[in-house]
Amino acid sequence: MSLDNITLYLVATMVAALLGAMMMFVGRQENSAALKWWGTAYLIGAASVALWAVTGDRFGPAVSVVLNAMGFIACGMVWNAARVFHGRNPTWPGLMLGAFAWFAVAAILDPADETLRMTVGAGIVSGYAVLTASELWSERRKSVKRGWPAFAVPVLHGCALMMPILIGNFLRPHDPMFSTSIWVTVFAVELVLYAVGTVFVIFMLVSERALTVHKTAATVDPLTGLLNRRGFADACARVIEREARARRPVTVMIFDIDHFKSINDRFGHPAGDEVLRLFANVVVSNLRVSDLSGRIGGEEFAALLPCSLEEGMLVSERVREAFETSGVVIEDGPVDTTVSVGVAGGPAGTDLDVLLASADTALYQAKRSGRNRVAAAAEVVPLSPDHWRRPSAPRAVVRSRPVVA
Ligand code: GH3
Ligand code: MG
Ligand code: MG
Repeated sequence: MSLDNITLYLVATMVAALLGAMMMFVGRQENSAALKWWGTAYLIGAASVALWAVTGDRFGPAVSVVLNAMGFIACGMVWNAARVFHGRNPTWPGLMLGAFAWFAVAAILDPADETLRMTVGAGIVSGYAVLTASELWSERRKSVKRGWPAFAVPVLHGCALMMPILIGNFLRPHDPMFSTSIWVTVFAVELVLYAVGTVFVIFMLVSERALTVHKTAATVDPLTGLLNRRGFADACARVIEREARARRPVTVMIFDIDHFKSINDRFGHPAGDEVLRLFANVVVSNLRVSDLSGRIGGEEFAALLPCSLEEGMLVSERVREAFETSGVVIEDGPVDTTVSVGVAGGPAGTDLDVLLASADTALYQAKRSGRNRVAAAAEVVPLSPDHWRRPSAPRAVVRSRPVVA
């Protein structure tokens, strides 16, 4: 079977142009600058290869040098698109470097030395492929979980381009037929595979990014930046499972700001929001990085600590005291604010709902005995959550006391 190279290159450019147009379309719809960069790169690359395949050397070597330079700009844009995707600025000198290097090489090298020119050209393309791969590799932990295709596709592309040329250079340095050999066909096929493979990687990255954004929106409270009830429950389930395997206890606390409604009534809703944000800060700055915290209701927050009930009581007291003495000041002046805390501890594997229900019962007790205090529930035995509802409070609470740290 013999394949016509010009036809092959035209098919490659049509595929690239179609993919470029698709990325531009999705980039505009999703308002993604990186996709627009990738789309433009594909369109420029497709145009340069199409013009080069159609015109050949008909308009003299100068025109084909310019067309090749266009192709290198397209490669530079693919790399810069990866930078833009990671929130970096595009680098214009880096983008143009390949094209300028090509002009310099064209001016210096003997135009008849086709093999050397091919080697330099493939070197520039491979250089950009390596830059793209290293850009995607350095960010792989932040963007994709299984990021190897993002790295492998440009690296394979670089190798596919360089290997035959280097081998050809070594094995057949004086073969004038080299540039028109089977490798030209192989490159055309490789070009299609690379174009399609890269778009696969791009859409994998973009869809994973979109998934992360939606997941964050579904699990994070926008006012305080803490986990919301759902995010907190999900994160807790993982920690509880991990601690259960290690046979360590966990402690849950519920914080409820005292007389919060009156803060809203006296100072307005925006001031109330400000107090919520301040309290979230107090919680986070008094917990360890390994502790979990979240906003589970209007002015109710919760935390889960991998520690004993006693340690949990001390931490709760630290938060309570820090909030009382935080000297909350809003636009209208200082606001006296306090918080009540219910704490419940349980042995390894205790269900989160059981712990929360138990901590809620303790919180109710803290409120009843005067607010601005920490109350603990009894050591929880793993029971169904139905046994720990507030109406049966007196049965559940065995200890309630202010704690002095
Ligand atoms: P207690 O000491 O018994 O907890 O009294 P409280 O006033 O804090 O409790 P209550 O449940 O009566 O009132 C909670 C208030 O929290 C009512 C609601 O308007 C307010 N709230 C809930 N979510 C938000 C919010 O996102 N922002 C603001 N500013 N207020 C909120
Ligand atoms: Mg409340
Ligand atoms: Mg309250």
